[in-house]
Amino acid sequence: MFNLVIFGPPGAGKGTQSAKIIDKYTLAHISTGDMFRMHISQKTELGQRVKQILDDGLLVPDSITIDMLEEEVQNNPDAKGFIFDGFPRTVPQAEALDKFLEGKGEKINLVLQLDVTEAEIKNRIAERKKISGRADDDEEKLLKRIDEYFTKTIHVLPFYQEQGKVVKVNGIGNIEEIFGTICEAIDAAQA
Ligand code: AMP
Repeated sequence: MFNLVIFGPPGAGKGTQSAKIIDKYTLAHISTGDMFRMHISQKTELGQRVKQILDDGLLVPDSITIDMLEEEVQNNPDAKGFIFDGFPRTVPQAEALDKFLEGKGEKINLVLQLDVTEAEIKNRIAERKKISGRADDDEEKLLKRIDEYFTKTIHVLPFYQEQGKVVKVNGIGNIEEIFGTICEAIDAAQA
């Protein structure tokens, strides 16, 4: 198995690059943000519990997020590996993921950090909003989500840096060029 975490602030291009990675490396994509949005649109019990949290741009409690993530991994027993997009966002989530994978004789092989400036993120989110009409991307919520990233999620990086797993990729520029750099990192990690 090859397990990858794609890491970066909201709007860094994680979704775009994940789609390209999945195509090339046939990994199963798990986006906790997409999963929460699906639960909300289908009005499941979980969706009703987390709707307000997503609307406010805050993080869903770890226990809810970890349970949902682990269930999704279990639902994909034939996957050659996973790309975790938007997870882990806190150190307890990262610890839980390591423990969970260890129990299956697996691990995280690579953490790709998409490095972009705050100004670039804001431009990208504004563009994406025009296309997808995502409700959580208005100005106030965007600032909250970026704040959540820089106050909480950023602390996940040292956790993986200590394990020597982080490769930093400049997230600004041409999508294909960024993807090329990502492929080099994946190929090196698989070699
Ligand atoms: P995303 O599409 O990854 O930006 O996620 C959208 C929203 O879903 C976030 O702003 C959070 O409210 C929630 N969310 C997604 N992933 C997580 C996570 N790993 N931990 C906590 N909340 C999450």
